[in-house]
Amino acid sequence: MLRNITRRHFAKQTVSIGAGLAVPQLFSCAKTTKNKSDDLEVEIPLPIQIVIDDVGWWSGEDGNAHQQPYRTGISRDHVPADYQAIVDLGKKLGVRPQAATILCEWDRENILKNLPTSTWMGKNWDNSKWVGPWLDEAAEIITNNHKHYELTLHGVGHEYWDGENFTRAEWADNTGRMRPLEQVELHLDYFEKLLDQNQLGSFPSSFVPTAFLHGFGKTGDHMFSMAEVIKKKGINYINTPFNNMYNTEGVQFEVFGIDSEVITVDRGEDVLNWNTFGQGPKGIIAGPTCGLHWPNLLHLDSDRNSEIVDLWVAFLEPYKNKLDRILSINSEEFRKQLVHHVGSRASFEKGVITLELIDDQLVPKELANGRFQLKIDSLNQLDFKPQRINLISHEFEKIRNKFRYTLILEPHLKTKSAIIEYNSATS
Ligand SMILES: [Zn+2]
Repeated sequence: MLRNITRRHFAKQTVSIGAGLAVPQLFSCAKTTKNKSDDLEVEIPLPIQIVIDDVGWWSGEDGNAHQQPYRTGISRDHVPADYQAIVDLGKKLGVRPQAATILCEWDRENILKNLPTSTWMGKNWDNSKWVGPWLDEAAEIITNNHKHYELTLHGVGHEYWDGENFTRAEWADNTGRMRPLEQVELHLDYFEKLLDQNQLGSFPSSFVPTAFLHGFGKTGDHMFSMAEVIKKKGINYINTPFNNMYNTEGVQFEVFGIDSEVITVDRGEDVLNWNTFGQGPKGIIAGPTCGLHWPNLLHLDSDRNSEIVDLWVAFLEPYKNKLDRILSINSEEFRKQLVHHVGSRASFEKGVITLELIDDQLVPKELANGRFQLKIDSLNQLDFKPQRINLISHEFEKIRNKFRYTLILEPHLKTKSAIIEYNSATS
């Protein structure tokens, strides 16, 4: 949670980063290529991913006035139905939302008394109040709905306790400098122990820093960046607002940066305040992340959660129908699509679409060589003949007088450019 988010801004310069990677230019996001004579429009659409923060609390209380975490601010306890709301959102949109999770209130064995910096009770940690059948019920919802629920690392207790005093935040101080390495590693280990206690699955591959306090690259006197530390645990993706990040100027690609081979994506601005509940979203998603906080998806009466979920579905569904947007089905596809949206180029002329592909020296190879989508609007029905790129599938729908094609493409290894010949199909 972050209060008073200021308007997002983007870095205008590039520098070398922790991994020693220097990037020669900053890419912009404009991709539309129009040519009236060909009656065609071609886009590598911007992917959107849903990221939901502060999942995992059982108490909804905002405790910041008495040295406890902010939690979710909803004026009731959380229940398993609140997890089902995330799954329902994912199922209805055909996507896999990320649930950035706090696990201290899942501690069945009070192991966190051995990690006093992680909770407001320190060595006297006692979580017995929150141990009950709801843990298994929620765990079952999470693990049985793998395709529509991604458990993302947020933190153990969200803040960092120095004795009785709470400080923001768990992984970095209020300037974005990483906490002592030994503490960061312990907090990661205890997050994993809590996952195991509750059989919530393996360690996540994605991370949302608590309070959005995070440094891009190395911070303070540290030998390693936060990205490098969590990479050792299997994290390959960080999502955080860049307007609040330490060393934002180190970001190489405007809406994402590569830090020790971990992609770090801009969250931008959320459309709702962190503690708003019982109402639907308003506004537009301008960047790659649809960020929200758990209560934004919920109703005060948990039996009515689906009413709020449906408002989010109605809000997000239209993005599927835009030529220049997609809702990614999961974070793997999201990352590959984002890299191509930003770093690859599509143009066309006289029956040939030319694709200039992102240099695989600039981003992790599995992203540069990964599958991505191309959307095409045409007045005519088309046939496609690809060269130096695999056309995994193509389908179309008729939208008014146009044919809307979606092509799934996979570049050949080491291909810098590819072409797709297109012809009006004879019917
Ligand atoms: Zn949070």
